[in-house]
Amino acid sequence: MLRSVILAAARSKKMERVVGAAPVTRSLVKRFVAGETTAEAVAVARELASQGLLATFDYLGEDTTSPEQADATRDEYLRLLAALKAEGLSHMAEVSLKLSALGQMFDEESSYARAHEIATAAADAGTTVTADMEDHTTTDSTLGIVERIRRDFPEFGTVLQSYLRRTEDDSKALAYKDSRIRLCKGAYKEPETVAFQRKIDIDRSYVRCVNALMAGEGYPMLATHDPRLVEIGIDRARWYDREPQDFEFQMLYGIRPQEQLRLAGEGYRVRVYVPYGDQWYGYLMRRMAERPANMMFFARSLATK
Ligand code: FAD
Repeated sequence: MLRSVILAAARSKKMERVVGAAPVTRSLVKRFVAGETTAEAVAVARELASQGLLATFDYLGEDTTSPEQADATRDEYLRLLAALKAEGLSHMAEVSLKLSALGQMFDEESSYARAHEIATAAADAGTTVTADMEDHTTTDSTLGIVERIRRDFPEFGTVLQSYLRRTEDDSKALAYKDSRIRLCKGAYKEPETVAFQRKIDIDRSYVRCVNALMAGEGYPMLATHDPRLVEIGIDRARWYDREPQDFEFQMLYGIRPQEQLRLAGEGYRVRVYVPYGDQWYGYLMRRMAERPANMMFFARSLATK
């Protein structure tokens, strides 16, 4: 119930103004978002690399409604990739992008073209790109665009969400050689017709998808903070004879940082998903929805200001 309310608020412009104006919001944003500028993102990449952690950078921006906005987002990715290359960090850091921020909602073809330009720049820098997955109405379009880009850049990755009923089949279909698939539970509010609703069903689906990805020939990227699923990931990698460099764990910036270091210390590849930019509202609200404790902390802080 609380999750639905927060996810609805994540799409409300009015709530965005209220939350954005609250003084306490800044400290919360700082916990989950790396900063607003390219330079701040690069500084975080350097810091994570010094701790043996890989990174993937997401320039925050959703609900892009004009080609100018979409071009500006593409340009920021090109700037970041050039900066990572110049700083010698591109072997440790890649980028994650939302096709909606590149214009997918109003001109699918142009979002493909912008993502292709970013993939070209990433290849030039010696790194990779992963396309995030958004709500289920965009899944086919996103997989279609990714498939086209992979013809030129086979390492171009994407995300599957275990809450979707279709994802076990998608995991089997996409577990081919060189395919980079990030598996997460899913962060949007989806109808029962297309998505499991109970946590246990979402978790069971996650395990079935881990099996499919680990059994295949691609490169699984297990994006979860869930301790049980991390252990299952390690177990299945062993079962399918995968070395620690043949898959990776991914976690969000600011969430379970000690666990990120522990896994890296044990020799696993760990990539931290680092959002940056000034359009942090939708991202922050989805993190609140995942963990009501975060929301209670935020609400209490608002009340005491
Ligand atoms: P949960 O069951 O939510 O959490 C398990 C445990 O992790 C909790 O008990 C708690 O200890 C800890 N935890 C989880 N969330 C938080 C939090 N917000 N604050 C503090 N502790 C927390 N979703 C998409 O729909 N599309 C994407 O493209 C996408 N990309 C992602 C990329 C990465 C690298 C990651 C890690 C997640 C991504 N997600 C994406 C979000 C994902 O779908 C989940 O919503 C999110 O990861 C929470 O699920 P969980 O697997 O961590 O398990």
